[in-house]
Amino acid sequence: TEETLVLVKPDGVARGLTGAILARIEAKGYALVDIRLVEADRELLEQHYAEHAGKPFYEPLLEFMQSGPSVAIRLAGNRVIEGFRSLAGTTDPTTAAPGTIRGDFGRDWGLAVQQNLVHGSDSPESAARELQIWFG
Ligand code: ATP
Repeated sequence: TEETLVLVKPDGVARGLTGAILARIEAKGYALVDIRLVEADRELLEQHYAEHAGKPFYEPLLEFMQSGPSVAIRLAGNRVIEGFRSLAGTTDPTTAAPGTIRGDFGRDWGLAVQQNLVHGSDSPESAARELQIWFG
């Protein structure tokens, strides 16, 4: 079994989609190992998004991620890293496939930052690093 960090980002929490997103995660059979509501501060987000530092969307992304609480989930399951990213759909909700979280719930707000509802770690190395950042 494997673990990943999933976030319901501030847009998902604000829109009341946490339950709908958790329902899909649970229906898939993944195990909720830990879950918490987090008001992420800049320091935490600088660590989480270190790979994007300097990109044009970096500052707007950090602002957006501080606009409200996120739900952080330590999720376990067989190949859950790849599996959750498949559930989430592609980064841009405008074109994410129907049947995915971003494809079904994501809106194209025409904003500078992709408000795409969820985050999922993209590799075992990222998962270990990000779980340490969000859960210690
Ligand atoms: P995540 O890592 O959050 O699951 P991802 O792996 O699909 O999403 P990344 O490339 O890691 O996407 O980007 C992290 C986040 O930065 C995205 O989820 C999105 O919110 C934002 N982002 C990425 N690319 C862009 C872009 N071109 N314009 C605006 N925002 C972006």
